[in-house]
Amino acid sequence: MKYEAVIGLEVHAQMLTDTKIFCGCSTKFGSEPNTQTCQICIGMPGVLPVLNKKALEFAIRTGLAMNCRISAYSRFARKNYFYPDLPKGYQISQYENPICEHGYIEIVVDEEIKKIGITRIHMEEDAGKNIQEGAGNYSFVDLNRTGVPLMEIVSEPDIRSPKEAAEYMKKLRTILRYLGVCDGNMEQGSLRCDANVSIRPIGQKEYGTRAEVKNINSFKFVEKALEYEIKRQIRVIEEGGKIIQETRLWDSNKGITESMRSKEEAHDYRYFPDPDLVPITVEQKWIDEIRASLPELPDVKRGRFVSEFGLPEYDADLLTSEKAVAEWFEETVRSGGQPKAVSNWMMGDLMRLLNEENKTIEECPLKPSQLADMLKLIDKGTISGKIAKTVFDEMYKTGKDAEAIVKEKGLIQVSDEGAIEKAIDDVIAKSPKEVERFKAGDEKLLGFFVGQVMKAMKGKANPRMLNEILKKKLT
Ligand code: ADP
Ligand code: MG
Ligand code: ZN
Repeated sequence: MKYEAVIGLEVHAQMLTDTKIFCGCSTKFGSEPNTQTCQICIGMPGVLPVLNKKALEFAIRTGLAMNCRISAYSRFARKNYFYPDLPKGYQISQYENPICEHGYIEIVVDEEIKKIGITRIHMEEDAGKNIQEGAGNYSFVDLNRTGVPLMEIVSEPDIRSPKEAAEYMKKLRTILRYLGVCDGNMEQGSLRCDANVSIRPIGQKEYGTRAEVKNINSFKFVEKALEYEIKRQIRVIEEGGKIIQETRLWDSNKGITESMRSKEEAHDYRYFPDPDLVPITVEQKWIDEIRASLPELPDVKRGRFVSEFGLPEYDADLLTSEKAVAEWFEETVRSGGQPKAVSNWMMGDLMRLLNEENKTIEECPLKPSQLADMLKLIDKGTISGKIAKTVFDEMYKTGKDAEAIVKEKGLIQVSDEGAIEKAIDDVIAKSPKEVERFKAGDEKLLGFFVGQVMKAMKGKANPRMLNEILKKKLT
């Protein structure tokens, strides 16, 4: 029997607001435990939460970017459960009437565009953090994160493979970062993913029983955890067993998922509308304003990079995966760089140098105009493409302009026919055996001659002229 996987993801995204969702405490990451708390977020009795308008705006912004319907009427609900990191004994979330519904985003699978439905996006507050420290039989609770605004983005069970799940996550992260509503940092937990997965025989319409896998904190683990879980479910079924609806934990060290608890049902949470918060009504005018403020989104930008700059899909995809990278590219082209050349240098040498130092494009020591100026030197024939590699590295290291580096280091390309001819003659005179073999038909040796002449001229020979003269001399 052949099976297919059915996957739906629940993604929690921490919003980039300065303050928490229902109080004025800071949301800054990494402060001393319990220094960013107040009566409201630690759940003292008798205090009242007030919705942070920015959090609502960010949720609407995200909903619009993901083609959702924005609810004119929306409200908060209490989700009741007990856990030490949840001081009130309930989490303020949304249940009925979430702020956004019925959207989708697009991913590319095997070069085809596939829509993944977004069931809903709702707002909720984050819980605190339990900290295990020391050998004692106890743990601490840090409530700094309590009340940090989250969006929960729930997908339809439209995903069919671990690879698609990872693509979906990446696209989601890209959009959130374009919008500036979440920093997308999976290691720090600002983007978290629970994966629901079931299997069914190919051709069957009904879904199978699903398991929910928690604790996935990287793109790699989304794929790995799902691959493992799908294999496990197939094994259980083939051995005549049954999948039970449960919550499983991904253990990235062991590379397996383990049963954590049987799945809770909605009624276990005893949801009810939160009487402390008034229902939210959103005016169309505000929605229109937010829509007008949306940036050009990654799919549109990618399409434009192909049509406007003639870039291959691959380049366009890479260059638009981060907004700041795309802007750096466009700025370089505006400064006079030829688009494909700019793309090659950015995807190659620039990314390599940035990665070596773990830097983002925002921290790049080079200005776009500096790359553009260097490319002009190549076009004019002042430096060869090969020498440009040295110039680029030096430019990156020192921040100096290409022209200054070329002058300082004497890297100007030699296009003097006489000088190149002389170097070629020297090499030919020194290599009678190779000349003989070349003339006997071993044409691969051309590379040897080019290399020797380049070496003699310290890499500065104009490669086009070198090739032309060399071929003439050898035949
Ligand atoms: P809960 O809130 O209890 O986790 P939901 O109905 O909100 O349940 O669904 C959560 C996620 O599970 C959604 O992303 C949905 O697409 C996915 N899902 C639902 N049924 C299945 C199934 N049979 N197999 C895989 N995923 C599923
Ligand atoms: Mg769930
Ligand atoms: Zn607070």
